Amino acid sequence: MKKEEKITKVIQLLKKKYGEHNYRDRGNPIDALVETILSQNTTDKNSSRAFANLKKIYPSWESVLKADARSIKKTIRSGGLPGIKARRIKHVLGEIKRRRGRLTLDFLRETPVRDATAFLRSIKGIGPKTAAVLLIFRFNKLVMPLDTHNLRVAKRLGIVPQKMSSEKAHELMNQLVPGKEKKSLHINFIIHGRTICTARNPKHEICVLKNLCDYYRIYYPPKR
Ligand code: SF4
Repeated sequence: MKKEEKITKVIQLLKKKYGEHNYRDRGNPIDALVETILSQNTTDKNSSRAFANLKKIYPSWESVLKADARSIKKTIRSGGLPGIKARRIKHVLGEIKRRRGRLTLDFLRETPVRDATAFLRSIKGIGPKTAAVLLIFRFNKLVMPLDTHNLRVAKRLGIVPQKMSSEKAHELMNQLVPGKEKKSLHINFIIHGRTICTARNPKHEICVLKNLCDYYRIYYPPKR
């Protein structure tokens, strides 16, 4: 089966099971960007706590930019990798201020998706997932982020080759998935990856995608 055909069937089956999603984040884009940086390699609970603490201690992003990285590190300790994330946050805020003259990303609303992605990706510390999460949820642009659940499910299904890097996989999925389906598929892959196609002990028997899945076919070939 061609990848395009498989993707179409996967989209339909997951929509039938988990629905369509139109979620939009209407908050400050810099908040969304910092939240995404804090969410790297940790749980939602830990990163939310770190973000809430950061907002409690610092009244504005300008004050975070002026603060010492070691003080920021203490504030976001609950989010994991606090030293790396503190330096990353300061660098990203500093670059936005340096390039745009002030701490705002509102100009991205009117910027074509390719240019908006290029702007964000040119800042060290903003990877393809972080850029795509911000653009799709805050600015409603047609770009699909690939998080760990998306990547695992897409690889097991055989849509993304097993050894492909996450950066290349991100490009491939964005070519294959139609624009208007990107948000729902991203969210449905997360739901499916958290509940059925889990990293350990995936629940193949109750999976709606098993007839399309390479992993299932290889490890559980049909009995003759
Ligand atoms: S059949 Fe198994 S491996 Fe394939 S998508 Fe479903 S749960 Fe994941």
